[in-house]
Amino acid sequence: MLRVCNHPMRLGILGGGQLGRMLALAGYPLGMRAMVLDPAPEPCAAQVCEHRLGEFDDYRALYDLARSCDVVTYEFENVPVESARWLADRVPVFPPPRALEVAQDRLVEKRFLQELGVPVPPFAAVDNRPQLDSALREIGLPAVLKTRRFGYDGKGQQVLNSAADVEPAWTTLGGRPLILEAFVPFDREVSLIAVRGRDGSTVFYALTENQHCQGMLFQSRAPLTDTAEELTERAQEYTTRVLDALDYVGVLAIEWFQDGGQLLVNEMAPRVHNSGHWTIEGAVTSQFENHVRAVFGLPLGSSKVCGYVGLINLIGSHPPLPAMLAVPTARVHTYGKVPRPRRKIGHVTFVAATAEEREANMTAWLDRFPPEADGSRQEPQP
Ligand code: AMP
Repeated sequence: MLRVCNHPMRLGILGGGQLGRMLALAGYPLGMRAMVLDPAPEPCAAQVCEHRLGEFDDYRALYDLARSCDVVTYEFENVPVESARWLADRVPVFPPPRALEVAQDRLVEKRFLQELGVPVPPFAAVDNRPQLDSALREIGLPAVLKTRRFGYDGKGQQVLNSAADVEPAWTTLGGRPLILEAFVPFDREVSLIAVRGRDGSTVFYALTENQHCQGMLFQSRAPLTDTAEELTERAQEYTTRVLDALDYVGVLAIEWFQDGGQLLVNEMAPRVHNSGHWTIEGAVTSQFENHVRAVFGLPLGSSKVCGYVGLINLIGSHPPLPAMLAVPTARVHTYGKVPRPRRKIGHVTFVAATAEEREANMTAWLDRFPPEADGSRQEPQP
């Protein structure tokens, strides 16, 4: 039966960064309108959709969002859980606020995964200096000391290689709830992006290999070119446990360390994810479109990968647009953000018929626009 809509489906998004922007853009061809809530006066999503200025615990702004939208979602995981719960009493909110609660705290997240039998690196809680010593005895060195909350892109963490690193790391991070993790001598880092609909139907994107520079994602490639079938199956099976336990709706990204045949979770993100940006051109349905489909209770689209896809993040600054567009194989995305060191301001995607062609395209790009050693381009171009 044809449903005649008097108003477009309205999506509320907590957060107005590039993920909110790409979610809003994905909704337009489906007849949706988006509104972001963000405390910044000019978040980059505001260039493409409505923006309500407000903190995430500003209940007047939250009320306005609930009143104006049919569904609310988030584009980053540090939204206060109380705000998400308050909204969920007034309007459907997906992913479920419990997913935020778990993903906001590295200790809660690791315990949650452990209970589900999903492997994580050895870890211990560190709330004071004596606990750090006992955690070091238990975990050993090398290890990584991290803040439990608000860490991202490698911020809020210190690698401890030797006993001499302990005191400086404690001076930098101590005083906040921390976690000590064993340093994983991984072969590579991979991520799996899953989407679960309101009816429980689930699709997975191809397992993606990720390279980080100084804690920030720099390059991604999908699909993996080696025999990754078994690895993919295992990652999907573990991820399904998480999705089911949370009665999840929307995109969930899980980042893993691959150590031989073993997969260990690094962290999970209850939102669309940077390592899935390649899906815009490289999959039948992008992670952004599938997220909005999921939260509105619509059928999910195919997640099939279209060839061999590579992604390079534009960090700090980017070359002039005409220079980037002069590379015919590059699909360029800029986020409308002010260039700043260590800031993700865009990405480039390459879709090729073979893995060799993908490598050639990515290498040619990096030769033409060489980044700094940390993946960024510090100097804004004229
Ligand atoms: P995170 O912010 O926790 O995702 O960490 C950023 C990056 O630091 C990861 O993508 C890894 O490259 C590295 N890293 C974090 N934790 C560990 C660990 N326990 N062992 C080895 N490398 C790690």
